[in-house]
Amino acid sequence: MKEILEINNLSKSFEIESGKLLVLDGINMTVKNGEILCIVGPSGCGKSTLLSQIAGFDGPDTGYIKLGKNKISKPGLNRVMVFQDLNQLFPWKTVLENVVFPLKVNKIGNSKHERLEIAQRYLSMVKLEDFYNYYSHKLSGGMKQRVAIARALAINPEILLMDEPFGSLDIQTRTNLQNMLIDIWRKTKVTVIFVTHDIQEAILLSNRIIVMGKSPGNIKKVINNELPRPRNIIDGEFSMLYKEVYNLMEV
Ligand code: ADP
Ligand code: MG
Repeated sequence: MKEILEINNLSKSFEIESGKLLVLDGINMTVKNGEILCIVGPSGCGKSTLLSQIAGFDGPDTGYIKLGKNKISKPGLNRVMVFQDLNQLFPWKTVLENVVFPLKVNKIGNSKHERLEIAQRYLSMVKLEDFYNYYSHKLSGGMKQRVAIARALAINPEILLMDEPFGSLDIQTRTNLQNMLIDIWRKTKVTVIFVTHDIQEAILLSNRIIVMGKSPGNIKKVINNELPRPRNIIDGEFSMLYKEVYNLMEV
């Protein structure tokens, strides 16, 4: 697979009361076109900070991130983020309007009709075709995250950024959404960078796993995950990979 994103010697610190807090230290990594890359690491190791840098929400102290030939300096439609927060939908808009609105604002699609078609296509992909007119307060957590995923994919980004998107869901809903994400990934061939602190989730989803360490955040190891799909947590090979990642994780 061709590499589409490159992070070169990226460091990032924040000003805090006691001085400077170095959060990311000399990060070097690449992302391959069409892969699911999982970034796993303990809480506070800088996973969200790294994803914000890729999204272009914030810039680095040193180093750079390149998407294709271009350095990332601001947010763009080629990278869209899905967050953990179950309240990332517009509460005053219906499910369908939530997906159509960013298309309209960003002038994607040539007509209202075309935008509706795009929105409906992605809402079908997340199996919400029967809930177009629902407002978010009527949706379960899993349904809200499915709308957020449909809304992000409708933009047709090169990279889908996901920051612990299933972290607030119960285990059954989380399993359903993990399987749904793999189906969607197969259909759309979108590149996914998926942040999680859950080793099992990283092994279930990924083509590659980046294990981060903390204080300051750094990359400890990049692991190829070639386990055949569908993956099963009770398989011996799954456990072996789990142990490898677990032993690298500082808690
Ligand atoms: P993770 O997502 O891996 O849990 P974060 O990227 O959220 O970690 O945070 C990494 C470290 O950076 C933490 O110590 C956090 O407190 C700190 N941090 C994150 N954002 C800011 C900020 N805007 N200002 C100061 N410190 C921050
Ligand atoms: Mg985080």
